[in-house]
Amino acid sequence: MTKMTEKNALQQAFEELDGLYDEMVEIRRDLHMHPELSFQEKRTPAFIAGYLKELGIEVRTGVGGGGVVGTLKGGKPGRTVALRADFDALPIEDEKDVPYKSTVPGVMHACGHDIHTASLLAAAKVLSGMREEVPGTVVFLHQHAEELAPGGAKAMVEDGCLDGVDEVYGVHVEVNFPVGQVAVGTGYVQASSDAFDITIRGKGGHGAEPHRSVDPLVVGSHLVVNLQNIVSRRIDPLHPALVTVGAFQSGDAHNVIPDKAFLKGTIRTYDQDVRRQAEQELKLICRTTGEQFGAQIDVDFQHGYISLYNHPEETAKIKRLAEDIVGKDQVVVKPPDMGGEDFAYYVDKVPGSFFWVGGGNPDIDAIYAHHHPKFDVDEKSMPLAGKVFVSAVLDNS
Ligand code: MN
Repeated sequence: MTKMTEKNALQQAFEELDGLYDEMVEIRRDLHMHPELSFQEKRTPAFIAGYLKELGIEVRTGVGGGGVVGTLKGGKPGRTVALRADFDALPIEDEKDVPYKSTVPGVMHACGHDIHTASLLAAAKVLSGMREEVPGTVVFLHQHAEELAPGGAKAMVEDGCLDGVDEVYGVHVEVNFPVGQVAVGTGYVQASSDAFDITIRGKGGHGAEPHRSVDPLVVGSHLVVNLQNIVSRRIDPLHPALVTVGAFQSGDAHNVIPDKAFLKGTIRTYDQDVRRQAEQELKLICRTTGEQFGAQIDVDFQHGYISLYNHPEETAKIKRLAEDIVGKDQVVVKPPDMGGEDFAYYVDKVPGSFFWVGGGNPDIDAIYAHHHPKFDVDEKSMPLAGKVFVSAVLDNS
């Protein structure tokens, strides 16, 4: 393919994506009105599979449990590029006053996964319509259950969704960036997220007889403070890490020393060695604090998503392609944060990059944080997400 026809194919794809705006809005609003919780998705994957089949794309359903994978073989030689959109919703009551408000009580697309899905379906429609111009193979990864560990990505990868894939890209709409912007980040951009449940077994008794009891409340208080040493004194300060105790429950009377106390919390890290170290330190501190006070402390440690590492070369590609679409000044760097995202499992296996498209717009009240009951984003983010997706496919050398 000469540079000239490559440019024409891209230009044609962009025009078609813009032309699909109303359809994207229709799909997004339909998904928005019928949100489904992680691991309970039925209607959504059935719709996606039907849509892709209609386009003549080869479809595999139930991938990794609930994912839908479409494969489109292009008419020209080239690499295999995978594009991912997640499609699950959250256990949140939709408090927006809009015609496309959720019709399912207590369930809502409060993270924009409906936007991702509609964008990727539109990209699939455009690419399938010009398949003779498409280099290599395109794999559409429509993923279930991003919001709930163990997530859908890991299972989809284990079920072979990346077999033969050379590069993988994923998008997230981001309300903290204005619509029209694309954000990229290289290296670690999101954290691994592990959870712990701690049970402290003391010896209950009368509040006036502390010497006859082992007070789990006091043990727990020491424990919360001791756990602060992990990040401040044990982990290399050049490596990001955090330990948050998010729950501490024990007792319910003025004059009773309870039997037990319960703590819950999360550990976030980037580096895998630091992640292992933080877990070991937590378990050690629980054991020694228990020994110090004569209490039994048990830890139930649950490994969540691994950290998300954006590969430099593929991130540079997305940056370059995005600059061609929206201009240099509209492509920004997203600072890394300690949130979690199971796109991490794809880039753990093959090179790739997760990018963000701005969705914020105060004029339409798209100002609330992700997972907020009034969360909404500007739908103009969809053609832009679609354009970056098709660019990643057509720029295939
Ligand atoms: Mn999300």
